[in-house]
This record gives sequence, structure tokens and C-alpha cells, in this order.
Amino acid sequence: MRRAPRANPYRDAWCGDLTAAAASAPARVSGWVARRRDHGGLIFIDLRDRSGILQLVFHPENGAELFAVAERLRGEYVISVAGDVVLREERNVNPDLPTGEIELQATGMQLLAESLTPPFPLDDEDITLDETLRLRHRTLDLRRKPMVDALVLRNDVVQTIRTALVAEDFLEIETPILTRSTPEGARDFLVPARMAPGSFYALPQSPQLFKQLLMIGGYERYFQIARCFRDEDLRADRQPEFTQLDLEMSFVAEDDVIDVNERMMCEVFRVGGLDVPPPPYERMSYAEAMLRFGSDRPDPRFGLEIIDVSDHLRASEFKVFASVLGSDGVVRAINAGTREVPRKELDELTEVAKRFGAGGLVWGFVLQDGTLRSPIAKFLSEGEIAALIAALDASPGDLLLAVADTADTAAAALGALRLELSRRWGLVPEGRHDVLWIVDFPMFERNDAGSWTALHHPFTAPTGDLSDPGSLLSRAYDLVVDGWELGGGSIRIHDPGVQQRVFEIIGMDEAEAESRFGFLLEALRFGAPPHGGIAFGIDRIVALLAGHESIRDVIAFPKTASGSDPLTGAPAEVDDTQLRELGLRRR
Ligand code: ASP
Repeated sequence: MRRAPRANPYRDAWCGDLTAAAASAPARVSGWVARRRDHGGLIFIDLRDRSGILQLVFHPENGAELFAVAERLRGEYVISVAGDVVLREERNVNPDLPTGEIELQATGMQLLAESLTPPFPLDDEDITLDETLRLRHRTLDLRRKPMVDALVLRNDVVQTIRTALVAEDFLEIETPILTRSTPEGARDFLVPARMAPGSFYALPQSPQLFKQLLMIGGYERYFQIARCFRDEDLRADRQPEFTQLDLEMSFVAEDDVIDVNERMMCEVFRVGGLDVPPPPYERMSYAEAMLRFGSDRPDPRFGLEIIDVSDHLRASEFKVFASVLGSDGVVRAINAGTREVPRKELDELTEVAKRFGAGGLVWGFVLQDGTLRSPIAKFLSEGEIAALIAALDASPGDLLLAVADTADTAAAALGALRLELSRRWGLVPEGRHDVLWIVDFPMFERNDAGSWTALHHPFTAPTGDLSDPGSLLSRAYDLVVDGWELGGGSIRIHDPGVQQRVFEIIGMDEAEAESRFGFLLEALRFGAPPHGGIAFGIDRIVALLAGHESIRDVIAFPKTASGSDPLTGAPAEVDDTQLRELGLRRR
């Protein structure tokens, strides 16, 4: 409930707060004209402010001058209206509106501003609006209820986080925006330094290094609602700048970080109305997530788990299986359940598997007599079919889908396929949400050029034998909700020797490491406590809680998918003088 506004010449109440309890009393409200209806000598106005909608009525007998102004009102005009709150007649009550039992009978009005006709309707929640148009006129779009709801929720989430962390002795500390490159695996945005021609600041991809320096500096529990900048090719849920809750703690191990964050996120879920089981949240190893769900951010809500059936097919005469299994590959499968799936849809599903690198998709329907209807049925022995049916817990009518490939490709293809099936067939049970920690990630993976890169980032602490990079796990953890990675972090390296060795493994020699991260390495040599932390994507959390697909719907002024801002026209050219001052143009 909002506090009543301080009474002033514009208002003494919020539109959305006036209910039957306020009937028979005078009130003054301000806002925008949402709708205007002329009704046999009466004018009805729906007045909108941030809190909601209130119906105003203008009677000609309350003053000819007042009525004349009311007749001039159009959509989005800004007015302040004084009047009496009265109960509506029974038949005029609007049960869909919190203020639907009353209306304000106007006795006076100030017309504060006129408005051009908006390019799209603002109060019809059911229509789909063109997003570019919305972004171009974001000021108007922000007046729409879905945007107000999203930004109010966003505020509630951020305030909840602040309250929860301050109660746990965290300090909110800011770190620089103009800084040096932080390697989070994306391209940097660069800012030319006028005072040092030819030199550039990088915008932070995250506050990672600064928060580690804060730990070494003794600020044992830090957090920040931090803006991060990554110059990546954008996708639906990406923005060139986005907001993280960034936090770090000293003298901790994994369980300490996870514990604090579970308490905090549990509050966030509560505030966002997300019905999830209470912590502790389940933990699943990266290896298990990849095997069962084909993804390091699994969505387990709709089953369709992936089963490795390689062992049942080792002796198979089917050439594809034999050759894949003979060269260290795997055969994995999903039981897609009983469903009429026409040939055309099977072809579409095969295309999905192929898009993720698989050579093809094997399908088969289990028949009443325990055999399979499948293009490859004739190549499988009775024993193999029986073993497959048992492994996949299949019954007559079930559709089985299999991929034979390298373990990585089979995981990627079947992981994508199960999401596609869930989308097509609407398999997520209504209202179900799953929260999961993914742990025990590999420390390194090979990039396309065959060299090692850190799966998380190179400041993550490894466990295992440093001389065998491929065998190392990292002390990282990700929080995944309904298949969305909401956050990720790790226990960090606090030993300068280990840090140096990790740089070496990813192909950075001592000189390069010193030149790029000398400040970190030096700090590590002056007594670094064991420390670790995490960062959460605020935009994603709010989008999930608000039930929006796109994070653009929970950001006040987002960029389009191609990184531009139709409102301000950014990015834009700058004038020659600026370029010359920055040393980017000679004359
Ligand atoms: N800096 C990391 C990131 O932005 C999070 C962390 O390790 O705390 O993903």
C-alpha cells in the first residue's frame, strides 16, 4: 500500500488508492487522461497515474466552464481534478478495477498540459504493439500498465536484495565504469582517453577484478547493483549493457556463498510471487546435467530425460550405431511419450537435431507386441529392442528419439530437442518452477583452435592436478531456474602461483599476464584471503518473475536486438571536433 501523497495544489490522493472506504469525502488527483466517454450530457474520464485508474465524472450542473474544459480533454492530456468520491450505482460497478466501486465527481480542474495523439493505444493490454514503435516512443510506452508493473517489480526485487544483503553485513560499494578490460569472454566496449591519445578505457564486462581487490583490501562482504557492458552479437535475452547483482565474500567456501544466496533468492522469489520449494535447492553436477538434460542450464520441469543407451547397442549391426560406438561416440535417446506425431513433424524434429550438429535423428514407435515401428527396426535384434524399451521405460504407443554422435553433439542435439518438444506440445506443468545449482564444472574447455580456455573465467579456483588441465574441475556454481541461468560464480584463486599457472594454461605467458593483470597478481602477493562470490542477472530475474520472454520488457530504456536505441538514436555519429579532441581524426 502506498502512503498518501503529501497534499499540494495537484493532489492529495493516488488514483489507484481511492476505494469505497474513501466515499463521501473530497479528494484531489492528478494524472493522464486514459479514456474519455461522452454519455448523454455527462463526460466520463479514466484518469491514470502510476498507481492505477480512477473514473472521473463531469456533470454540466457542476459548472459550465468546468464542463467546457472537460469537453476539450483528449487522450494523454495532463490534469489535476478536485471532487467528491461517490459510490457508483450498483449496475455501474466495475469489478475488474480496484477503484471500480467509486468515481470522483469533479468540482474543479486544472488543465496542466495537452498532448499530441499517441501513435498507439496505451490502455489496451490485449493488443500486440510493434516493438520498434514502442521503443521509439518509450516515454509513452512506459505509461502502459505492463511496463509500470515490470518496473515496480524490478524496484521490489532490487530493494529486497539490498535489504537481505545489508542484514547479512554486506557493504554496498561502487567500482569504476572507466577501467581496463576484464575477461568475461566477450568483446570490450572501448572509450578513447582524450588525455592520453591512443589509449583507451574499457567498460567493465563485470566488476570481477575490483571485487577481488576489495576482498584483498579487507572489505569482506561486498555487493553492488552493477552495470556490465559486453560487446557481443545480441540475442533475444542479451543487451550490450545489463545489470548484475555482483557480490563477493572472504574466508568462505562454496557452501557459505550458496547459503547466503539461497536465503536472499528465496526472498526475491517470494516478492516476485514465484512459487518455488524452499531452500536448500538441489545441486547437480555439470556432468549429470549434460547427460540427463543435454544442457548446463537444464529445465527439468517436463521430464523427457536423456538416457544413454550405448551399452545396449555395442553389438548392433546397424552401421551408424556400430561406427559411432566404435569411435568413442554415444547413442542417447529420449522417450517422448505417447502422441500422434506425423511424418512431417518427425522431419521437423530431425532438422532441429541437425541444426545442433547431429547427423540425423532416429525415431521409433513402440508397438503393442513389443517391437518397434521405425526405419531402423530391421537392423536391431529383438534383444536390443527389448533393452531399449526397458532402458527408456517405454510403453506401447511411445515415441523414442535417438541420436548417435559424439557425447557433446548428442547432448546438444537432444538437449535442444527436448526444449523444442516442450515448446511444441506445451509440456511444462502449470505453475511449476524448479531451482537448481549446477556445480563441479570442468575448469577448462578446448576452443575451436584447440587451446584451453576457462569455462567460467580464469580467476576461478580449480580443483585437481594443475599439470592435467583437461581433468580439472572448477569451484564454480550456477543458479538455474526453469532453464534460465540466473547467476553464476565461484571460489577464486587466492594464490598468485596458481593464478599464474592458470594464465599459462590458457596461453598467456608471464609477460602478458603481468601487463594485463599485473595489478591483480601484485595484490595477490600482499596477503589475499580465500574468497568467492557470484553475480546474478537482474534483468533476467525480473523477466522470469514478470513472466516476460524478453529482458527488454523489464528495462526502462533498452536497446533493440541490434544494439540501437530508437528513442535517442544511439549509437550516433559525433562531430569532427570531438573526434579531433580524442585523437581519432587528425584534421
Ligand atoms: N564475474 C562473473 C560474471 O560476470 C560472476 C562471478 O564470478 O562472480 O559472470
